[in-house]
Amino acid sequence: MSYAPDAIRHLTLSAATLPLAGPISDAKVFTGRQRPMTEVAMLFAEITTEQGFTGLGFSYSKRAGGPAQYAHAKEVAELVIGEDPNDIAKLYDRLLWAGASVGRSGVATQALAAIDIALYDLKARRADLPLAKLLGAHRDSVRTYNTSGGFLNASVEEICENASKSLAQGIGGIKIKVGLPDAHEDLRRVTAIREHLGPDVPLMVDANQQWDRATALRMGRQLEDFNLVWIEEPLDAYDVEGHARLTAALDTPIATGEMLASVAEHEKLIAGRACDIIQPDAPRVGGITQFLRLSTLAHQAGLMLAPHFAMEIHLHLAAAYPTEPWVEHFDWLDQLFEERLEIAEGRMLVPQRPGLGVSLSPRARELTHATAEFGRS
Ligand SMILES: [Mg+2]
Repeated sequence: MSYAPDAIRHLTLSAATLPLAGPISDAKVFTGRQRPMTEVAMLFAEITTEQGFTGLGFSYSKRAGGPAQYAHAKEVAELVIGEDPNDIAKLYDRLLWAGASVGRSGVATQALAAIDIALYDLKARRADLPLAKLLGAHRDSVRTYNTSGGFLNASVEEICENASKSLAQGIGGIKIKVGLPDAHEDLRRVTAIREHLGPDVPLMVDANQQWDRATALRMGRQLEDFNLVWIEEPLDAYDVEGHARLTAALDTPIATGEMLASVAEHEKLIAGRACDIIQPDAPRVGGITQFLRLSTLAHQAGLMLAPHFAMEIHLHLAAAYPTEPWVEHFDWLDQLFEERLEIAEGRMLVPQRPGLGVSLSPRARELTHATAEFGRS
């Protein structure tokens, strides 16, 4: 059977605002750099082809940037109409060059991420394979840990309660936020949660970039006793040298990378031996095309992988990473999709459904406040 080229007939971009159940605070709020987070801005791309195949992708932003991502995507989206959706690399390049004047990272490429991810979803659906299988999976499930229960707006008692609920759901690890201006309070919270969990439950901490180098080293040394899986974002996301020194100085693995917005930025982290665990975010680095480039570099450098947020996408990408990764469990986006990811015995199961295995819910449509259509419907 020979391949009959397909063509993209229609593309819909939609912007939605997802309100969170309550205001969320990490260390950036306690140091006065950001206000509590109350919503997530979503950018969806839905593609239909002449042969009737469909793909769904999304990008997102927190606090600011959502309208800019949507505006940029609208400016370039027309360029994929009529093109073969299987030529993802070519289409990515075309979109990238169209926006070359505003660069190859951040908003400019996050706007493209929704389209790129939709193209990968479509390709996997055409092959009738889960995305992980299309990419070449190493496993059918990925270790998962919960983040959403461990923010700084929650008391120690609430965090312990949330952790128990997560573990009862089958989630394997618990991450809590640190980085408070009062280091004693951080240690009190970590001590309490470690006592609550016992010595064997995987526990991570995340300082959200709020320590300076000296504080990170001092805190890192005090945290060595807690058998942490990793210390996340101890320093400013762009302090490659500081991270490298810390990684060399501590036994506890250092994790970072979620704030970086391109492969080029991740490349510096990787080349600088600045972490043990890399935490890329596919929507944030410009999509799956970009994620795969940097995950190849990361594996080549011997790094472990724990992608940030967007578990609906990252479950597949983590399943395709050669060494055993972690995937971050965040229930925030659940209401946007019809399907739920299954969790059992500490692991998130790669869905058997083709593509990403998710479709937009009626709630996602309700939350949509702007839509743009391209091509023929
Ligand atoms: Mg983090």
